[in-house]
Amino acid sequence: MLGIGKVGWIEKEAPVAGPYDAIVKPLAVAPCTSDIHTVWEGALGDRKDLILGHEAVGEVVEVGSEVKDFKVGDRVIVPAITPDWRSEAVAQGYPQHSGGMLAGWKFSNFKDGVFAEEFHVNDADMNLAIMPKGMSLEQAVMLPDMAPTGIQGAELARIKPGETVAVIGIGPVGLMSVAGAAILGAGRLFAVGNRQVCADLATEYGATDIIDYKKGDIVEQILKATGGKGVDATVIAGGASDSLGQAIEMTRPGGTISNVNYFGSGDSIPIPRLAWGNGMSHKDIRGGLVAGGRLKMEQMVNLAVYNRIQPEKMVTHVFDGFENMEKALLLMKEKPKDLIKPVVLL
Ligand code: NDP
Ligand code: ZN
Repeated sequence: MLGIGKVGWIEKEAPVAGPYDAIVKPLAVAPCTSDIHTVWEGALGDRKDLILGHEAVGEVVEVGSEVKDFKVGDRVIVPAITPDWRSEAVAQGYPQHSGGMLAGWKFSNFKDGVFAEEFHVNDADMNLAIMPKGMSLEQAVMLPDMAPTGIQGAELARIKPGETVAVIGIGPVGLMSVAGAAILGAGRLFAVGNRQVCADLATEYGATDIIDYKKGDIVEQILKATGGKGVDATVIAGGASDSLGQAIEMTRPGGTISNVNYFGSGDSIPIPRLAWGNGMSHKDIRGGLVAGGRLKMEQMVNLAVYNRIQPEKMVTHVFDGFENMEKALLLMKEKPKDLIKPVVLL
């Protein structure tokens, strides 16, 4: 990122590992919709000459003197969020906010990201996970961000077996929320999107009803389908600035609204007063950045290896080499009909 709205290539000094750190050479990377918010909406404020990217798997090329569990040559999964584990926020149970709100998200936020020949990982023992032998790069690179973020959306929604759930947005994050909701036991499962390629995969991942937001108001469609009752829980994993209001309207009193969407613009997000029971509806609004770190990555590996999730099915476009990086990033911006997620192999 050269500046807001501008991308290109820059030369930087090679990173150096501190005693607890590692340097990793990427083997596969993926652009994220968050990179698009960051560059084209300037959602994090101005950033100059910042290396983008926070989804990577790679090979360790250097480790610090105190790193115990990783060595040069290991193939690793690198979480998008790499907390500082010796921090008050970790003691409070929120590693993603170590160092300040959202500050566990370092790559392509305030630290150079992974779209580079080599990148730096803080606290390697706590932030890296071994990539299992035989796991495809396409599957592995869906684990740093897409799988844990989407699944966290379902967890935050406190879904109980047999409940009726809606997932707003079925890009790669929302698709993983659909998969997560199915794992947690959702009964009826609405998936809101438009593009057919996403709707088909949502159905495969467990959605029972596809709601097309271009074919009428989604609140009306879901209220009608549930006989006016609404759903028990809604996960927001995409959409526009009115998604929160829609989620509140379609969720029953006492239900839960969970958000993993990145609201990239505007100073405030509206809450419809009446649908929120004038503030007394017991509709619980939750939202969060994914936790990141080694343990989360190992849990994602466990889900993938034992076939509870198949995130590689979201990879619709595979490119080779850094020369195709910009093309992959721009695809993520333009979201053509046949795209779910692009990956670049290096
Ligand atoms: P995509 O853009 O690929 O998917 C967005 C989805 O929302 C699509 O299904 C799209 O439908 C749908 N959509 C668009 N407009 C509307 C609307 N008005 N109403 C309802 N649905 C709509 O995004 P990703 O899946 O890649 O990411 C989703 C969000 O998650 C992004 O904001 C991203 O920045 C954020 N994110 C958050 C993270 C976290 O840690 N919390 C980490 C990673 C990402 P269609 O395309 O078919 O028209
Ligand atoms: Zn991301």
